[in-house]
Amino acid sequence: MRVFLNPGHDPLYDSGAVNAELGLRECDVAADIGARVKLYLELVGMEVFLMQSDNLAWESCHIERWNAAVTDEANKWCADIFISLHCNAADGEAHGTETLIYACGGRAERLAHTIEQQITRTLGTTDRGVKERPELIVLHATAMPAVLVEMAFIDHLPEARLLVEKADVFARAIARGVTDYEAVFEKPDFS
Ligand SMILES: [Zn+2]
Repeated sequence: MRVFLNPGHDPLYDSGAVNAELGLRECDVAADIGARVKLYLELVGMEVFLMQSDNLAWESCHIERWNAAVTDEANKWCADIFISLHCNAADGEAHGTETLIYACGGRAERLAHTIEQQITRTLGTTDRGVKERPELIVLHATAMPAVLVEMAFIDHLPEARLLVEKADVFARAIARGVTDYEAVFEKPDFS
């Protein structure tokens, strides 16, 4: 299976949410966990394309990012699934994991549920559910089942610590969510 991984935001141009108390940026958390997910998926024989950029669909205003856009690369590469990794942020109190999709009823919803279940069961985060967010670029400009995982809240201190200290546990949970999905939808039929 071909998995396109998109750690959210951009280390140079778009930090995403920031936990000032810990000096923790969403783009760095996503990059760290994304690199680990890539390793785990490659270990089980999947092909992985990892790309982090603020150019999601040619909207970047930074010339260094004008050579490629995330959603175009995923479409040209013919990824089987697309996974964007993010951290949530709200009021410092909200916490938990949620996974966003374009619309319910398809393979993206199934993938979202397998990843959501693995993270919440393994990390003990609150299951905030799978939600439709059709306006998000990475969900509507991708041609394959696509999910955006809000792994935990970076502005909630216990979860911010969890994202750092348990980065590898998040990565393994996400990779297992992918293999759970593959077991149902993507295995070749040998019958
Ligand atoms: Zn984000």
